[in-house]
Amino acid sequence: MRGDKMDQERKRKLDELFAAFSVVAEGSYVYLCDMTADISRWSKSAVNFFDLPGEYMENAGTIWEEHIHPEDKEEYRQSIDAIFSGKNGGHDMQYRARTSGGDYVMCTCKGVVILDPDGKPDYFAGAIKNHGLKSYIDSVTGLRTLYGFFEDLRSVFWRKEESVILQIGATGFSNINDVYGYTFGNKILAQFGRKVQDKFGDDGVVYRMDGTKMVVVTHTLNPNQVAVIYKELQEKAAGNFYVEGEFISLSLNGGLVIVNNFDINDKTVYSCLKYAYSESKNRKMGDLVVFHDMITNDSRQAIEKINVIRNNVSEDCSGFFLCYQPIMSASSESLKGMEALVRWHSDTYGTVPPNQFIPVLEQDALFPKLGTWILRQAMTDGVKFLEKYPDMIMNVNLSYAQMEKDGFIDEVLNLLKETGFPAENLCLEITERCRLLDMELLKNMVTIFRDNGIKIALDDFGTGYSSLGILRELPVDTVKIDREYVKNVEKSEADQNTVRYISDLADAFSAEVCVEGVETENMKDFLKQYKVSSLQGYYYSKPVPSDEFLAMEFVAD
Ligand code: C2E
Ligand code: CA
Ligand code: CA
Repeated sequence: MRGDKMDQERKRKLDELFAAFSVVAEGSYVYLCDMTADISRWSKSAVNFFDLPGEYMENAGTIWEEHIHPEDKEEYRQSIDAIFSGKNGGHDMQYRARTSGGDYVMCTCKGVVILDPDGKPDYFAGAIKNHGLKSYIDSVTGLRTLYGFFEDLRSVFWRKEESVILQIGATGFSNINDVYGYTFGNKILAQFGRKVQDKFGDDGVVYRMDGTKMVVVTHTLNPNQVAVIYKELQEKAAGNFYVEGEFISLSLNGGLVIVNNFDINDKTVYSCLKYAYSESKNRKMGDLVVFHDMITNDSRQAIEKINVIRNNVSEDCSGFFLCYQPIMSASSESLKGMEALVRWHSDTYGTVPPNQFIPVLEQDALFPKLGTWILRQAMTDGVKFLEKYPDMIMNVNLSYAQMEKDGFIDEVLNLLKETGFPAENLCLEITERCRLLDMELLKNMVTIFRDNGIKIALDDFGTGYSSLGILRELPVDTVKIDREYVKNVEKSEADQNTVRYISDLADAFSAEVCVEGVETENMKDFLKQYKVSSLQGYYYSKPVPSDEFLAMEFVAD
């Protein structure tokens, strides 16, 4: 037995805890790791099924990694590193693991870190659920699952088969579950899945993805034909959709990606698909959105570019850099701080602005890695900026994909410690898309950040429909008015009303106002009649790299 290196007392405790966990985690494999000794105990059934060295293992994390599918390894490794370095308090992930027979089974692995009374990591405990091979078929709809989709997508690449991929989902499905219950909700989903499969017939395979979304892959239909079918499905779902005596009306959303380029990663395809879908849902009222480059209208190049950028994120974020744009005090026109704005550069594509990759990469499991890089870089540059401007505030944009991840608050606090950047000089900008998060979670997060001295700004204020609601719920320091609402402020009465309304509203909630997109002196002077405390825009400076920023001379606030 490998456990003889531990002292008897810890060994007894490991066994006791293990017995307790095994009762709770019925049906799953259990593992328990004593993090001080790095000795783990694993369920006997797991040892046999996966052919592990024994019930007690030293360095089990590395041994287990050997069993994980090569394509899932990186994510697993990152997650384990984050746990053992104290960055994350646990994980909840899915991966494929190799059995003693050499097949891969899909597993869900949930683990938590248990701290000792001094707050130091003591145990890492978890349960692994083995979904086996069955999980390739969804029990509700009988369709192939997400895993089946990825498996088939990989073979699309392998066979270099041109394909059109459509993701469909319904808005407000959770309402149906609330009103009719899950059983009925599942029936609707099953029937809808059949309808989709009937419509495509032998031309497409339908998959049930996460939640209520479905994906269709076709090699025989072109995008226009798929668009026609989508339209018909949309009409059917909105009209006479009849399930067990009830008329149900679903409003569909649809995103489409054309795969005709096989040098790219399947995960890139999925991110682009999810992005097109989210555009359909959030901006196009369900109209089908085809993923392509907004400027060149070219889908092949757009995916390729996203794929290259995505690969750069996984390779230590090479090619990314930050630019800084000054934020000025409206009353004294001295420097209040700056906003960090990310860019990506390569020889082939030149400098790519964030609007071309952030919204797509936000749909990608990889995004938080870029988010962390941005925060660390902004704080590192910020330490230098503070020498010249001791009271400046560094604004950094956040994405919901970052905030959603467990352990995000600790990550920010740890980065402050690591870089030596003071919390009081940091302002986190929450963008419009962050509002997709659960409000309770968001509120909690904002409160903890502010308790730690970090400021919070609401970015792009006025673009969402629930601006008032969000101000009522969230305690923020600053509201930033989007450029869209002020571009014509000198002439447009509507813009003037917006600025007046938002600044009065912010004032009522004791928040400051920052106006973006100030391009001229006239505009700046005009804005002074409102309750606006800071200004940002090309009039003062475009966003520039850090050395250029330091070379400019501003009056310190
Ligand atoms: P944003 O946060 O609203 O950033 C302001 C955008 O307005 C920047 O565009 C800036 O260059 C531009 N801008 C500033 N002043 C003027 C002006 O006077 N006139 C005009 N026409 N434009 C002005 P940029 O850098 O292209 O960023 C676009 C968006 O990308 C940002 O909008 C933000 O939503 C997102 N983004 C940028 N950097 C990051 C980042 O590090 N993380 C995340 N999550 N999102 C980012
Ligand atoms: Ca911003
Ligand atoms: Ca903004």
